[in-house]
Amino acid sequence: MGNINVFSGPMKCGKSQRLIDEAKRQKIAGKNIKIFKPLIDNRFSENNIVDRNGNSIEALNINNISDIEKYDADMYFIDEFQFLDGNIDTIQKMASKGKKFYISGLNLTAERRPFGKMGDLLCNADNIQMMTSICECCHNDNAIYSFCTAEKTGDILVGDSVYIPVCANCYEKLLLEKNK
Ligand SMILES: [Zn+2]
Repeated sequence: MGNINVFSGPMKCGKSQRLIDEAKRQKIAGKNIKIFKPLIDNRFSENNIVDRNGNSIEALNINNISDIEKYDADMYFIDEFQFLDGNIDTIQKMASKGKKFYISGLNLTAERRPFGKMGDLLCNADNIQMMTSICECCHNDNAIYSFCTAEKTGDILVGDSVYIPVCANCYEKLLLEKNK
């Protein structure tokens, strides 16, 4: 494993589950780990990262990527990275000193644009696991996009019910329907 390891993909692809699994493994291995998540994401729980299977692990709430510098650890785990402010310099600097990172986040917004600092992160990562979801329209296992079924009012809409994972083909179909 490299210094910067990223689990990415659309909604419901199992990113958080992978992060929790890896954090639990490293904890068993006796590593000094710290787990973080953005304050904005309180969908499941305030101070825990909870995956869709109900697995959870305690996490520290942060707003800015640079907040992690205040905490000493060998390994830093960050969930929902796309919602964090700040820039990637913090992670580059810490990784150069031998710190390891496991980070999960949505690569793309519902408009299929790089989400927050995820583009910067992916370009700097040593290891990327790009995951897919089951398309909620055609049920093939090749969903790479998150489609927003609601009319969007702000920049970030947290809460999953309005987002569905879809494949590229179904995304185009849904977009045509929506823009009718
Ligand atoms: Zn589909």
